[in-house]
Amino acid sequence: MNLAHLLQRKALEHPDRPAIFNGTLPVATHFEWAERAARVGAHLRAQGLQPGDRVLLFMRNHPRYLELLFGAWWAGLVAVPINAKLHLKEVQWIVENAGARWAFVTADLVPDPAALTGLDGVMDVDSTACDAWVNGAERGGEDALYIEEPEERAPDDTAWLFYTSGTTGRPKGVMITHRNLLTMGLGYFNDVDHVSPQDAIAYAAPMSHGAGLYAIPHLMAGARHVVPASGGFDAAELFELGRQLGPLSLFAAPTIVKRIVDEAEAQGLTPEQCGQSFKTIVYGGAPMYAADIRRALRSMGLRFVQIYGQGESPMTGTALSRAHLADTAHPRHEARIASVGVAQTPVRIRVAGPDGQSLPAGEVGEVLIQGDSIMAGYWQNPEATQAAIRDGWLWTGDMGALDDDGFLTLKDRSKDLIISGGSNIYPREVEEVLLHAPGVAEVAVVGAPDPEWGEVVVAFVVPLPGAALDAQTLDAFCLDQIARFKRPKRYELVEALPKNNYGKVLKTVLRERVC
Ligand code: AMP
Repeated sequence: MNLAHLLQRKALEHPDRPAIFNGTLPVATHFEWAERAARVGAHLRAQGLQPGDRVLLFMRNHPRYLELLFGAWWAGLVAVPINAKLHLKEVQWIVENAGARWAFVTADLVPDPAALTGLDGVMDVDSTACDAWVNGAERGGEDALYIEEPEERAPDDTAWLFYTSGTTGRPKGVMITHRNLLTMGLGYFNDVDHVSPQDAIAYAAPMSHGAGLYAIPHLMAGARHVVPASGGFDAAELFELGRQLGPLSLFAAPTIVKRIVDEAEAQGLTPEQCGQSFKTIVYGGAPMYAADIRRALRSMGLRFVQIYGQGESPMTGTALSRAHLADTAHPRHEARIASVGVAQTPVRIRVAGPDGQSLPAGEVGEVLIQGDSIMAGYWQNPEATQAAIRDGWLWTGDMGALDDDGFLTLKDRSKDLIISGGSNIYPREVEEVLLHAPGVAEVAVVGAPDPEWGEVVVAFVVPLPGAALDAQTLDAFCLDQIARFKRPKRYELVEALPKNNYGKVLKTVLRERVC
């Protein structure tokens, strides 16, 4: 099974159903999408690329993204979608690490194609050459290429080589297989949301990451795919797109969700009015603080679902469903909304100590995942693969605890753990407290080396506009809420926190600042 077969099937079943939108403008039916993908695949093969070869997509969100992605798959190639915020030097590193042969790029990111070396070709996706590939030389004529079947692929063949976003260390290529993505896609319907052909997914976050992966369940359902005309994230644009096209679903990191909620409040919309623009907002990828999701629910209604996953088990770990979020009468509701929910259908989750033994409910250990969504391994890195997958379980590097009902609460990534004077401090816990302090907009807590304590806690705090904050008040607030040893020893008041393209706080950058 090749993921491109899903597209072929929908194209035959509902050829004229609109599939891809550039803003409100329909740009491809399901048949046209498949036809273009098949043409692109045939052209790549004509360049000498063989099944299994790597094709880079270094593009901002673009209406052609899905045609090219499925074009690579149609020809049995491995897609390497790259974060559009990367520096060209980092992209070149990936080109070499992946041994990529071809790259599709947008000119804003690669003004000079010669800047990327070692490839057979670098194609600007807005060029006339790319137009000819996608649309065929003579449009409307007999199309010999379309009748070619997608290349056969084994379920464990790599479909997507995902370079980890690099909040820690050097990126590694995660080999995500056709089976992994089929599993993720099917799981969506049981754990995240029902999808009908009238639904539409909007790509409000980078398509090179989780948001793009959600194209698969939406293709499975024959739904519509909307690439906002701005190509990026613009909350007001999303509200308007939803009003015109029908309620949108989307995946976003918590920082983006916050901005959508801000916009709803700024426009003075009721939760019902928000429902004209949004069907389901799936959040994940970074911690969503309990206060923030509560506010989102209050302002926009019950249209949120949380997922927890990582590149190594794409979008598939746990889910906190609409029903969980709605169940305010449950005695453990407060704890549940601060959790990441329960294991998604296709996987098992357990929490283990360093020896791999499962820990009892309530104890903090490393989160392990097992199932068909788990990556094949890291690209050309057997040592890292062996460290990450042991006895069939993926060691996520995330620390967490399960409760008696199977709800997982994340404490932190194991690398983020601060050990001060021999005591473990989970930054997340300190952040949750400080976020409730008056005048605080955002917080990130890291450990700084200290000769006496090994490490001490440092808090970077972004004040709300106009708020006058000082260390003394914040310290008093913490003293009132958490153990003394967890209190930050130092506060750095900053205008903004450094974040990556997906809205995750770059703790590596903050740690460098306190070294
Ligand atoms: P990536 O591989 O770049 O998608 O990053 C995955 C990491 O993001 C996970 O290992 C977690 O540390 C974090 N993450 C993902 N989902 C959530 C979530 N719902 N809540 C908190 N952290 C999350």
